[in-house]
Amino acid sequence: MSSKAEKYMELNNHSFPKDDWYYGYYYDMKKICHNCARCGNCRWTDPYEMKEARFGKGCPTNAYHLFDGYSCQGKMDVILGVLDGRLNYDNNEKLLDVIYACDTCGACDAMCKRSRDTEPLKVFLDMRAKLVEDGQLLPQHMPIIDSMKKEDNTMMGKKADRGNWAKDLKVKDLSKETAEVCFHAGCQISFNQNLWKVGQTAIKILQKMGVDVGILDKAEACCGGKAYDMGYRGQYTTMAENNLNAWKTAKVKTVITACSDCYFAFKKLYADQGSEVQVYHLVEYIDKMIKEGKVQFTKSVPLKVCYHDPCHLGRRTDDYTPGKAISGVYDPPRNILKSIPGIEFVEMFRIKEYAWCCGSGGGVREAYPEFSQFTADERIIEAIATGAEAIVTACPWCEAQFNESVDRQNERLKVYDIIELVDQAL
Ligand code: SF4
Ligand code: SF4
Repeated sequence: MSSKAEKYMELNNHSFPKDDWYYGYYYDMKKICHNCARCGNCRWTDPYEMKEARFGKGCPTNAYHLFDGYSCQGKMDVILGVLDGRLNYDNNEKLLDVIYACDTCGACDAMCKRSRDTEPLKVFLDMRAKLVEDGQLLPQHMPIIDSMKKEDNTMMGKKADRGNWAKDLKVKDLSKETAEVCFHAGCQISFNQNLWKVGQTAIKILQKMGVDVGILDKAEACCGGKAYDMGYRGQYTTMAENNLNAWKTAKVKTVITACSDCYFAFKKLYADQGSEVQVYHLVEYIDKMIKEGKVQFTKSVPLKVCYHDPCHLGRRTDDYTPGKAISGVYDPPRNILKSIPGIEFVEMFRIKEYAWCCGSGGGVREAYPEFSQFTADERIIEAIATGAEAIVTACPWCEAQFNESVDRQNERLKVYDIIELVDQAL
């Protein structure tokens, strides 16, 4: 057989040499890369769902760099080049840049699953894990990882200050007491004083609904989701074990969070580690309570709003089944907003599995601030184009990004976490 034919057979049977690269998930990386048809669909939203060409792009890093090497397809080519030994792997700064200047938002993944039954995001995340394992670290990420290691958070805050957002609340401290439900605030709500109101309102509403709820206070640890997305799987596992042990000691059966990153970590990653704790995002829990008649809105909130789907609440939680729609928590926030009297709800151009990212994911907020800001600014421009007076989201990371973007662009658009509107309507 000619070497060309042998190569063809090798590619189609995925029978690669069994060295370190090809064991476990690294094997899958190459297989997935070979499945890439170079169709380019991962740069766009679904053409059949596209409402406006101006808002047709799907991949923030490709839109920002205007260079295909950064796109999902480009990354697949670059990674395949590395796996095949055609591109330099060691101390290649450009490789780190291509792999890390990416929101890990999964917009490409949604399109590729749809058009090609392929999961490219898995490849990027595994490549990051491989780089970290081999000590090829992005210097900009080091402060976040140090903060996680020393203070259990991603915000460079002190562990002792983690529960300050709740110091004026009467709520059970689950490092000393037990409760059925734990509200997990997450790093952004705990350390960004502008967002303390989200956690405080969540506790007030849960208590009003008669829920036996507590918080871990300063014993709460970062969910670890950001560490996972940045490739630090050992650090992720440490964080996850801290929280799982604390929940076990406090006899927690259900965890509720208002943060989409935490939700993704608990719902997808902790479950893979065998966690049986029931997980709700606050929007799911409130939607359930509305349907059970336990929450009734009595006040009008006269406001025209659009809703931003956080990536980690939507497509990043997808249980991939070929041929099926990309799953995610899309309906509960919309049901809530449509139930509030006075609210006029309008959809954005890119929604649900095709939503444009806020620009805070995957470590880019910290490592690539200009790219991160470009991503947020684009979403704010889209929100304004809907004619809405306010953009509503269900994630403190998105809210922080949007608040900064509105200030930077000197726009008058209001930014809300959905829980604030729920509070106004009760
Ligand atoms: S959509 Fe998938 S198959 Fe098409 S170019 Fe992108 S990664 Fe490759
Ligand atoms: S994860 Fe998001 S930013 Fe990264 S390549 Fe895919 S669409 Fe682009």
